Amino acid sequence: MKKQRTETTAIRTQIPRTTFQEHSVPLYLTSSFVFDDAEDMRASFAEEKDRTIYSRYSNPNTDELIEKVCLMEGAERGFAFASGMAAVFSTFAALLDSGDHIVASRSVFGSTHTLFTSIFPKWGISHSYFPFDQPETIESLIRPETRILYAESPTNPGVDLLDLELLGNLAKKHGLLLVIDNCFATPYLQQPIRFGADVVIHSGTKLMDGQGRVLAGLAVGAEALIDKIYRFARITGPALSPFNAWVLSKSLETLPVRVDRHCENALAVASFLEGHPRVNWVKYPFLPSHPQYHLAQKQMKAGGCVVAFEVAGGVAGGRRFFDRIKLLSLSANLGDSRSIVTHPASTTHSKLSPEERKQSGISDGMVRISVGLEHPEDVIADLQQALDD
Ligand SMILES: *Cc1c(COP(=O)(O)O)cnc(C)c1O
Repeated sequence: MKKQRTETTAIRTQIPRTTFQEHSVPLYLTSSFVFDDAEDMRASFAEEKDRTIYSRYSNPNTDELIEKVCLMEGAERGFAFASGMAAVFSTFAALLDSGDHIVASRSVFGSTHTLFTSIFPKWGISHSYFPFDQPETIESLIRPETRILYAESPTNPGVDLLDLELLGNLAKKHGLLLVIDNCFATPYLQQPIRFGADVVIHSGTKLMDGQGRVLAGLAVGAEALIDKIYRFARITGPALSPFNAWVLSKSLETLPVRVDRHCENALAVASFLEGHPRVNWVKYPFLPSHPQYHLAQKQMKAGGCVVAFEVAGGVAGGRRFFDRIKLLSLSANLGDSRSIVTHPASTTHSKLSPEERKQSGISDGMVRISVGLEHPEDVIADLQQALDD
């Protein structure tokens, strides 16, 4: 049979039915599982059997979610975490030793940046940043103790891209592990493993759930690496709850149709903004004016839900815009069915110095819109009235 398309995989990957022959997958809200006898119990703990023991290790609902995401990403194995940050932290903590070094794109999620700068130094794990638009500097940053090359693409909030094939080749050349946070693209729009990634991380909280209900995270990739991550997580306990896994696995059934519509709406919003006189610039990966439009076409199926733009009039112009928004939500989340506007310089990236913000591609007047699933004309009408005099 021909390899299943991702739309089908997202719907038809499910754990075996119980004797009730239920059509929708049941929720296994149980912390532990029972054994048949002393030998079953011994063999299970000795890992001679592949079976459920305790939901900190595995659970049918999380197993289903992991299998689905692995199939969509082309990964061998995965683990599901209580949040995207639990996945980020556990991946580094499991794969690195004290004294190891990370080379990362400067444009990483705010909490990942704080992990690198404030938490990892406690354990002697250091990092060097390269600017997202200067990948040619990567090789000069690699040291004998460098283990991981790390990036997000598209970046948050600047929607700049990193060339995944180039990163894959560099990682291979220097014997580094390439770890990609694929949260903005989802496995539907981009599969970093195809370009050489060893581990792919997700925050399931964003487009994957798509309705702002649950926090979740995943790390998927090569068997030997995920085994290390699994052993770290099994002991330290950042596992996703079965309830959230059940919600998220259901959400993934509609991921392709939702993301298609998000992308269509985002392109319409970006095109509108590009023509508005009170907008200095607009960035969206599938807008032909994006500096990396051709790279976007090469490594992504569509542009995603996030549009970045700058309101004219500096900080005052930005404040005026936010105060006039009526329909859209002023919030920090993204990938929700509700369109959301955020001002990175005064919220998510306020802890960065102006120089650090500049290096991350964030200007003071920059606005990030996560375009939702409302009718795009209604979203555009709200933006228009907020921008107009
Ligand atoms: C939100 C986000 C995370 C963190 O995920 P949580 O589920 O909030 O912990 C990591 N990376 C990126 C790119 C994100 O947008």
